[in-house]
Amino acid sequence: MKIEIDQKSGFCFGVHNAVEVAENALRDGETVYSLGSVMHNDMEMKRLTSLGLITIDHDRFRSLKDCKVLIRAHGEPPETYRTAVENNITIIEATCPIVKRLQSKIKKTWIEIRQNKGQIVIYGKPGHAEVIGLLGQTDNEGLLISKADDIEKIDFSRPVALFSQTTMEIIEFGRIRQLIFDRLKEKGHLDPERDFIVFNTICGQVSGREPNLRAFAADHDTVIFVSGRDSSNGKMLYSVCKSINPDTHFISSVEEIDKSWFDGKESVGICGATSTPRWLIREVKDHIRKIGE
Ligand code: SF4
Repeated sequence: MKIEIDQKSGFCFGVHNAVEVAENALRDGETVYSLGSVMHNDMEMKRLTSLGLITIDHDRFRSLKDCKVLIRAHGEPPETYRTAVENNITIIEATCPIVKRLQSKIKKTWIEIRQNKGQIVIYGKPGHAEVIGLLGQTDNEGLLISKADDIEKIDFSRPVALFSQTTMEIIEFGRIRQLIFDRLKEKGHLDPERDFIVFNTICGQVSGREPNLRAFAADHDTVIFVSGRDSSNGKMLYSVCKSINPDTHFISSVEEIDKSWFDGKESVGICGATSTPRWLIREVKDHIRKIGE
């Protein structure tokens, strides 16, 4: 049985950077708190916890004083930084630079567009940490849409600036963009060419993986997709693989592998999300190889 690892799967640049920042901070032996999980991958989180990282939620964060807190790749709203100043908390910045730039762009656009009574619209997942950080740039005045029906929340008599969470699906973003454009045109109050600004802010590290994974999934009899269950891009990239190859299985650890998946199969492809560590992907490969022996 041929077993192949997708060479593009594994940590994206932002997650890789966050892990490195966390490891460096822990090297000094001081207590380091992480505001939320550094990534949506339990196996890698266990490793960082064993190095001394303590993951906390926002309630705990607000009660802390005089300590070090790491901000993960998803970023945080301005309110978190204000709390840190008030409580003498040293922030260890691991926000992905791409997310940081997106936050600044939203803030700048919001300041400009509101002068013309315009609105910021963000295509993203409700409650997702990155989205909370993005909406925070607009003092939570931005509109969040997570599906096509949500565009009804938009006031089509006012200008619109559309952004996306970095890990959303690009085809759906294009569809939503077209729906908003059509509605603005239909209403006739506004000129969509002038009053509709679109920022395609889906991260290339995710969108670039989609076409690659389509080809990879089609190339193998069975596909094993390795990801944490809470990973947003993990769910999205898994569904891309599954749509191409119905024999795609989602796993978070080697214990979830079922031997029967490989009966009569000649090739197995292993791939994963932007938060899946390469060591875990290799572990999955070794495990499947043993099953095949
Ligand atoms: S997916 Fe892109 S934006 Fe998100 S953390 Fe990774 S590199 Fe940064």
